[in-house]
Amino acid sequence: MKNKIIAGNWKMNKTRAEAESLIRELVPLVAHTPNTVVICVPFTDIYTAVELTRGTNIHVGAQNCHWKESGAYTGEIAPSMLVEAGVEYVVIGHSERRTYFGETDATVLARTKAALAAGLKPIVCIGETLAERQDGRMEEVLTRQVTEGFRDISAEELKHITVAYEPVWAIGTGVTATDEQANDAIRYVRGIFAAKYGKEAADRLYIQYGGSMNDGNAKGLLAMSDVDGGLIGGASLVASKFAAIVHAHE
Ligand code: PEP
Repeated sequence: MKNKIIAGNWKMNKTRAEAESLIRELVPLVAHTPNTVVICVPFTDIYTAVELTRGTNIHVGAQNCHWKESGAYTGEIAPSMLVEAGVEYVVIGHSERRTYFGETDATVLARTKAALAAGLKPIVCIGETLAERQDGRMEEVLTRQVTEGFRDISAEELKHITVAYEPVWAIGTGVTATDEQANDAIRYVRGIFAAKYGKEAADRLYIQYGGSMNDGNAKGLLAMSDVDGGLIGGASLVASKFAAIVHAHE
């Protein structure tokens, strides 16, 4: 049986001082888990996070990276800069970036390729909006996001990627997909990967659920057969809540 990858997405939260106190509280709470623990922090918290998690079981991630190694891209960050800072994971294509910052399947692919080339482990986010689900277009949207967003990702590259299925209607809304809705969508996504990369590669692929996961609903969601972990926003900002999710399925 796979362990779970539990990743916190802090979004645009936590000053350096706040990050320090959250991480100091979190380290002992998650020290003894078979699950993989990741915290994806704002760029300004990276050095603090790497320093305070050295020698622990917590891995540090960023929340975006650019597809170029350097250049005139004001406000962006290069994959090699993250690697040099000690970052291992990077969230790519979060729905907030797709909605507010014009991220497309093509830019998601470009960022993912660059992250992989630098040795980072991308957490690539996909998911349908409420309108798309209500229109019966969930499968079409997920198929497009995987087909376009992974267009020239090789089978070897896929081994270093985690996928996060995050229905947009469940992110930050307090509305969680039911255990069955999450599992059904993830099973559908796994089928798309199986068609392209084969069943073994698709079974090996980690596909997380994200969307208002918390210490109350994590146990049920993580117990589902296809749910390989969680990407957690709001609840990852409180050490005890995030730790409870980490331990919810061991
Ligand atoms: C997220 O940011 O990826 C997320 C799932 O947020 P929340 O848990 O707050 O819904």
